[in-house]
Amino acid sequence: MSLASGLPTPIRKLLSEAELVLEAPYARRIFTNRDLAFDRIPVIGFDMDYTLAMYRQDELEALSIRCTLDKLLERGYPEALRDIKSDPAFAIRGLVVDKKFGNIIKMDRHGYVGRAFHGKHLLPKPERKALYRSQRLGTERERFAPVDTLFALPEVTLFAEVVDWIDHRPEVWGGAGPPSYEQAWIDVRECIDKAHQDGSLKDLIQADIARYFQLDPELGSTLHKFRSAGKKLFLLTNSLLPYTEHVMRYVLGGQLSAYDDWRDYFDWVIVGAYKPSFFTGNAPFQELDIADRPIGKPVAEPRRGRIYVGGNQLGLQAALGVHGDEVLYVGDHIYGDIVKSKKSSGWRTVLVVEDLEHELEIRRDRHTTLKEIEHLTSLRISLADDISSQRYLSRLLARMSPDELAQKGVDAAEAEHMLVDTRAQVRKRFDRLRRYEEEVADTLERRIADVDEAFNPYWGSVFAARRDASRFGAQVESYACLYTSRVTNFRYASPTKYFHSPHGSMPHWHGPK
Ligand code: IMP
Ligand code: MG
Repeated sequence: MSLASGLPTPIRKLLSEAELVLEAPYARRIFTNRDLAFDRIPVIGFDMDYTLAMYRQDELEALSIRCTLDKLLERGYPEALRDIKSDPAFAIRGLVVDKKFGNIIKMDRHGYVGRAFHGKHLLPKPERKALYRSQRLGTERERFAPVDTLFALPEVTLFAEVVDWIDHRPEVWGGAGPPSYEQAWIDVRECIDKAHQDGSLKDLIQADIARYFQLDPELGSTLHKFRSAGKKLFLLTNSLLPYTEHVMRYVLGGQLSAYDDWRDYFDWVIVGAYKPSFFTGNAPFQELDIADRPIGKPVAEPRRGRIYVGGNQLGLQAALGVHGDEVLYVGDHIYGDIVKSKKSSGWRTVLVVEDLEHELEIRRDRHTTLKEIEHLTSLRISLADDISSQRYLSRLLARMSPDELAQKGVDAAEAEHMLVDTRAQVRKRFDRLRRYEEEVADTLERRIADVDEAFNPYWGSVFAARRDASRFGAQVESYACLYTSRVTNFRYASPTKYFHSPHGSMPHWHGPK
């Protein structure tokens, strides 16, 4: 319920026009995993890429693939690969790459692999089971690469394409033959890494910045709302200063007349932070001028109103002058921003998951089908339960003899008859239940396929895997105190809001039914 519901309409209008109380649209709500009292948070930090600055994923993906392909061809990969056309729907966050077998897999919360692609081809169930039935990530870490950020999606897509070429067109590699899947992964990874670091990607982005970023006209007012509520803000990004300056100027510049420069929104600015090492290391802070030139010697603590490169969490924490749990850090990288900051520094966390908007829209549009899936699933479970009971009963009856019945006082002639009759009845019930279960399973499969297709035709939902959370969904639940689709969703939340988690119970707390 909105804070202003029930108030007279003119008062509601006034509050809403002044943007003091706004109702969040359905897809832009903020979700809570762990209770958080917003008025006890004096400092909020922000990551830049994919947090304050939202890329146009399709464009960035196409560009990343182009730049990486250029580098692969320089390494001697065949010219024919230039024809690769990527499908931006193919890779989603939270997948895991099996470098050894050229597979891409989606796991549930427990590490069970429910779906796998070899290259771009769905692995049939028997093959998937043969490979992954008892495989867990932890046992062979080197073999698997988790897809933790949206930056990593193009390398997954490109790897899948290269695997297809290795399988179906190995001749294009000529005499030496194609690389192993593992080598192909190393090459793709190294090439995209280089594209990020040597400027080839960033130069092209900066040259046509409007093509690669979505502008959010509410960003300035959202940050301003935090500042007006007395909160201090900092920027903590891995991007280096020239790129940060260019991007931040584009996404924030000129939004509010009270702020001449994007830097005026932030009390501290740390670039080239080297997260996640930032949270565990002890690198000093080097002050920079706006032209990226070092000023003075490296220092242990950053000062307000200046720009620094490098640094570490303890130094920043000392400069902020508050306890770890009074800092809220907003980022998009489940590991680099969220897991590490929460585990190492005790900061409270907000994960920005852009995909959440699509997920929520599908959940709203397919609400009836999702309810049906829920009911069919419980029905299937209860049928499976009944079927096992009937099977058990059949076994007991098969072992029972007419003599035993006679000992219980049943007439000997009658006993044989009674037993045959009862066995036939149980058999009939068992067969009926089996047929019913098959029908239910069949409908359930079709309904699940229908919604999965709407979420993502290759993988289904980013957050869910069958009846459970996906590996990614479970990480969000464990590590992000709050999660939402974009930073500007906070404009709908009062700066004193108490974010209340709906969790907090274990299966055995619900009492006898
Ligand atoms: P953020 O602001 O902390 O999210 O920083 C993201 C920065 O990491 C951007 O400058 C990206 O170009 C960079 N980045 C993302 N993926 C890679 C990679 O694979 N290698 C090197 N840099 C990367
Ligand atoms: Mg980021």
